[in-house]
Amino acid sequence: MNQYSKEIISCIETLLPKTGETYPLHEPCFEGNEKKYVCECIDTGWVSSVGSYVDNFEKKLAEVCETKYAIATVNGTSALNTALILAGTEQDTETIIPSLTFVATANAVSYLGSIPHMVDSSPETLGIDPEKLANHLKKIAGTSPSGTINRQTGRKIAAIIPVHVFGHPVDMDPLLEIAEQYEITIIEDAAESLGSTYKGRPAGSMGKLAALSFNGNKIATTGGGGAILTNDKEMAERAKHLTTTAKAPLEGASRQNAMGYNHRMPNINAAIGCAQLEQLDSFLKNKRNLASLYEQAFAGCEKINFFHEPQNTYSNYWLNAITIDESIKSDINEILGDLNGAGYLCRPIWKPMHKLSIYKDLPRTDMSVAESLENRIINLPSSAKLGAHS
Ligand SMILES: *Cc1c(COP(=O)(O)O)cnc(C)c1O
Repeated sequence: MNQYSKEIISCIETLLPKTGETYPLHEPCFEGNEKKYVCECIDTGWVSSVGSYVDNFEKKLAEVCETKYAIATVNGTSALNTALILAGTEQDTETIIPSLTFVATANAVSYLGSIPHMVDSSPETLGIDPEKLANHLKKIAGTSPSGTINRQTGRKIAAIIPVHVFGHPVDMDPLLEIAEQYEITIIEDAAESLGSTYKGRPAGSMGKLAALSFNGNKIATTGGGGAILTNDKEMAERAKHLTTTAKAPLEGASRQNAMGYNHRMPNINAAIGCAQLEQLDSFLKNKRNLASLYEQAFAGCEKINFFHEPQNTYSNYWLNAITIDESIKSDINEILGDLNGAGYLCRPIWKPMHKLSIYKDLPRTDMSVAESLENRIINLPSSAKLGAHS
């Protein structure tokens, strides 16, 4: 076995003893009212596109995220897609995203015919590097009657999507300044960061719009689901309208007055979500406890660093991560193989978008950080229950 695999395993073992069972990367936790609420949906017949759980879920989400509105959707990708539409993202525009993200961020942009314009990440937050973005815009941005354009392509820059990677908030203040200066809308991809805060402000509450995900592997799940967050009343109304087939309330008949989507969250999923939000505080507590145990376990390592939450943030530590030293990054596949073989289900960070065949050759900054992190990050088993009793 690789010597660093041995070292990593001996650290993990101090908190997650080998039992012969495997430790999944992230398991959902259903220890609350999930069954009760789901049974209620089935017993009453309210399983589908309307019902009180959807309303309650939206209300609770808005409370947790400190936004005026939350609109539940069928998944996080559709929430991003809808948020982009609301921000005016159209065919032949460009949307700024980090290259180091889950593919859904780039896909949601592409569905609308907008071009993902990729920016490098910061090693401190793992999210968009505001300084690189500022320097890049200085070089390429121009003005036009329709707003800021990329002078090199002539296309309008429609939005910026910062992603709070693994739950760690991006350095938002400089990004918000850039957005104001260039009049570009910020949509937070807060899919991974429910419960995290930046300078006391919840992730998802800082951009004009934000998208959450409640996929089975996220900190709170509805099976599959998502939500759009905003403080803008008009946008919230349009979000509800667009995600519910654009039904217009007319006397008697219902009519469609725009090309809408069937992107609403079913009541049965929202029922699970309501039960999950009741437990969010304990999920956060357990996950932060697990993170601090990992941090202690890896404290003595030389070439392996636990990724600590960025300055000024309170992270939900959705996925714990270690970073291996540049000098041993060629060992990463061997290390991952060893860890998985030992029952610790770990994985590397995503392949940066600019390296995928579908998104290569698009406008971008240099990618030195994304390319360095690509082969150095290992996500560790991070289920909330692992931080519960230890
Ligand atoms: C999970 C995730 C999404 C998409 O959410 P789905 O509910 O799976 O569609 C988008 N962006 C990021 C960063 C994610 O982790």
